Amino acid sequence: MKTTILPLFNRVFSKTFRKAFLSVSAVSFLLFFLDFGRCIRLDPVFESKHFLLCVFTLIGWSFCIALSVRALGMRKTVPVIGLAVLFIVMDYVNYSDFRFVAGESDGPQGGRMMNLYCTYFHSLTTVSIFLIIYLLSFCCRSRFLTFLRYFLYYLFFLFALTVIGNKVFSGRGINEDAMIAILQTDRKEAFHYFFGLNNGLLLLVWIFLSVFVLWLIARFAFPPFRKRVGYRKMLAKNAALWCAAALLPCVVMGIFGSMYRFFPPRMYRAMRYPILYSLDLKEFNRNRADYIRKLQERLSSINKGECFPGKYVVVIGESLNRNFMGCYGYPKNTTPFQSRLKDEDRIILFRDCFSCHVQTQRVLMLFLTSLNQYNGKGYEIADATSIIDIANLYQYHTAWVSGQEKIAVANSSISALAESSDYIYFSNEKTPYRDLDVVKNIEENKLLDYDRSLTFVHLNGNHYPYRLSFPPDEVFDEQDFSIYEKSIRFNDRILSNLYDLAQANDVDVMLYVSDHADAVSVKMGHDPRQYVQEMAEIPLWVYLSDNYRAAHPEIADRLRAASGQVFTNDLVFDLLLSLMGMDNEFVDPTLVPGSDGYRIDEENARTVYGRERIVISRQNGAE
Ligand SMILES: [Zn+2]
Repeated sequence: MKTTILPLFNRVFSKTFRKAFLSVSAVSFLLFFLDFGRCIRLDPVFESKHFLLCVFTLIGWSFCIALSVRALGMRKTVPVIGLAVLFIVMDYVNYSDFRFVAGESDGPQGGRMMNLYCTYFHSLTTVSIFLIIYLLSFCCRSRFLTFLRYFLYYLFFLFALTVIGNKVFSGRGINEDAMIAILQTDRKEAFHYFFGLNNGLLLLVWIFLSVFVLWLIARFAFPPFRKRVGYRKMLAKNAALWCAAALLPCVVMGIFGSMYRFFPPRMYRAMRYPILYSLDLKEFNRNRADYIRKLQERLSSINKGECFPGKYVVVIGESLNRNFMGCYGYPKNTTPFQSRLKDEDRIILFRDCFSCHVQTQRVLMLFLTSLNQYNGKGYEIADATSIIDIANLYQYHTAWVSGQEKIAVANSSISALAESSDYIYFSNEKTPYRDLDVVKNIEENKLLDYDRSLTFVHLNGNHYPYRLSFPPDEVFDEQDFSIYEKSIRFNDRILSNLYDLAQANDVDVMLYVSDHADAVSVKMGHDPRQYVQEMAEIPLWVYLSDNYRAAHPEIADRLRAASGQVFTNDLVFDLLLSLMGMDNEFVDPTLVPGSDGYRIDEENARTVYGRERIVISRQNGAE
């Protein structure tokens, strides 16, 4: 064995290999770092783990290409290099107009940097796998390998070329939204859309031309070896094995670095979306049917009683951390408007409010319904009764206006609950500065005109990436705001707009609370697997109109006295129903802050669905 390995080693890693390795790695690293420099400026998140993974992948990739050049020659390697370049170009071209595509709220990080890592890691590992099959197919007499080589060659190239062609001719890339649009269409509409708006004919010509050119390249670059060059076969076989060995560590690290779990190739995610979507739709329909059936039973036996008619508005914030809000004692004036409301005593600000979970969907599930962490009724949607359905029963006009997207996958249980509203609106990816759009929508549709109404405003708020939560031309009064502080300042402006709108329409009660916070000070987002309490430290304030105070002075007094009590936002349900004067069996008076028997305190307050205890520190509180 030993005697054959050394000469083989020298023969494989020859001068040709070294030259190819140096030039390929120089070019790849140059391209990678050029984009890296651009991304880190726009989205200053450096993830060392994923960065290193990309560096290793680039080295492995250069190594594989150099081996292929050595074994097959430059001409036969060009298609493989071309494929890698094409995959990377495809990602950039297709996603160039999407503002944000990475793992959304799944991981603590996201944005451009992740997309960069994603693009390089997945494109290069995918093409390296093709390369291994490609090399093997030249040295083994396997019909299957030859077939696989041609099959993958046409599949990969045509896929990338079609995606690029689609973007060029239609001006719109393919992402999860596009897949939903395709699923929701019928044949006639699809035909019209494809050939009309999408320039489908051009795309078909493009695909046809691509096939022809690919066929020419295959003829030129793929002719099988003649029998006499036996040693080249051996080289190709060895090169394939070396490539596999070089690739393996990258793939293993990719698995441990969560590259596959959280950041599968973007294209793959889009392609997989129809399956997720139909599963989710099924789940939604099942949820909704279950929910409605059980709800009828519950509501039929309810002892309805009276309520306070009037206009109620609930504003739900997003990823807002109260420790960064001026009105909660943050040294910078990030919330001039809310601070003024507080100073002028027009709102009741709750000092120790926490979220009941750190994921939007899970929070809202309890927030909107009779379920909570303290009554032991579990967390199944079928066992829940939502505020919206109760309000409908009492003949309020109900509205759900959301600055967030109706992505079925992320929001199915919320959608199932919001579906009961008389009026529903969701923003979509194309809506710029969704919270401005939300304010406009409420105004245009005169939602606050109804004398008896309950309006939910679900803001896009301070969602990561924070830079995208306010318009780029927004002018800030203080120059030294961080990106997150700017997003809070902008959110303050949105609240001011909503408050003005509420004033103009004589709204009786306006309640503002965030779904959860982001652990901004430790740069961790809101991932329940890495829970820190900062993720749950949210603002809550309640505005009561003069009319309301005059009509219900005892409620106003109780609420004021309760502002120092510990509160978790799964109890918004009880708080809101009591403010609306609904005295029915859904309200548990011991969970309404300010009531005589209020039983939530530092000892038993919980978050993450009862998993975590809440610890109250008085050092950085408002008072
Ligand atoms: Zn959220």
